[in-house]
Amino acid sequence: IVVLGLESSCDETAAAVVRRRTDGSGEILSNVVFSQIEEHAAFGGVVPEIAARAHVEVMDGLVEAALAEAKLSLADVDAIAATAGPGLIGGVLVGLTTAKALAYAAKKPLVAVNHLEGHALTARLTHGVDFPYLLLLVSGGHSQILRVDGVGQYTRVGTTIDDALGEAFDKTAKLLQLGYPGGPAVEKMAAEGDSRRVALPRPLIGRDEPNFSFSGLKTAVRHEAEALAPLSRQDVADICASFQAAVSDVVADRVGLAVRRFAETLADGHPPVLVVAGGVAANKAIRSRLDALMSGLNGRLVVPPGNLCTDNGAMIAWAGAERLVTGHADGFDVAARPRWPLDDVAAPLVGHGR
Ligand code: ATP
Ligand code: MG
Ligand code: FE
Repeated sequence: IVVLGLESSCDETAAAVVRRRTDGSGEILSNVVFSQIEEHAAFGGVVPEIAARAHVEVMDGLVEAALAEAKLSLADVDAIAATAGPGLIGGVLVGLTTAKALAYAAKKPLVAVNHLEGHALTARLTHGVDFPYLLLLVSGGHSQILRVDGVGQYTRVGTTIDDALGEAFDKTAKLLQLGYPGGPAVEKMAAEGDSRRVALPRPLIGRDEPNFSFSGLKTAVRHEAEALAPLSRQDVADICASFQAAVSDVVADRVGLAVRRFAETLADGHPPVLVVAGGVAANKAIRSRLDALMSGLNGRLVVPPGNLCTDNGAMIAWAGAERLVTGHADGFDVAARPRWPLDDVAAPLVGHGR
């Protein structure tokens, strides 16, 4: 089946066409993304009203571009999927309403996708990963560890008790005047820095439950930056390197615990698979720590390519396809949801909807 997917929950407007074959493998036929980073950069973060307006302006054009690049017309696709939440409600409404209009006009099924499910299932599109796997979802708004047993079957085993990891990167960058989005900027500066220069805490390391906490780290970074001010370029680089080392230690420790527990539930000799998703998965330092962790545990680390880790339409189209083949579609009355935890996504009911 071929699915058109729309994404507009944050500051990326995106449309993509993806094919899912009956053997479960996938193929991206087109994947166009319009990033609003420039619209928001001056404000140091995403401004909801600006985002919603920008989504309206470019969505139709992106849909046309995605279909053209896939060399298909709307009549050729089997379903239309869109992010229905969680996210900035004004933006979500743009994609979801567009998808409803297209589905109605073309008489195609509509699939309302949880944005996090899009991140969660991407590794099946890119790497054909089988269930079950453990998912580390680290993005601008979320930091969670989930066990994935099937489409719609997500069990949260750990979460941040305060800030998301991407948010911690963004706030650190803002504090150091590195601009927005912060993750890539911090990573770039960290490459020039000494990670032992600044002593930072490692919150929750060694604790019994695989949860995260990043807000104390952010505060510690602020104190260190104030103590060193005025900051030279080297100071900034050293703080970035120290921050990245601290979060890498925390992530490796917390995820290590979750993976060991997950592995205990698998049949003997079945290697645990860890999938990393969300924008922070693009970070090479964190990646290489997780890679070492998984080798040490005789498991496998799977990270989709960077452009599929950050927000995109292909992941929404793919999640829509995965739900559709299990018999799930939504009615036109489906609502946009600003909050929608992934472990609330019920397993699709065959025959539900249409
Ligand atoms: P959510 O998916 O939770 O709704 P979001 O869609 O805004 O949030 P993504 O687009 O998946 O999040 O990811 C963006 C986040 O990833 C930002 O916080 C950004 O700083 C972070 N990020 C991107 N690249 C890197 C990197 N190389 N290192 C660290 N963080 C990064
Ligand atoms: Mg984003
Ligand atoms: Fe996202």
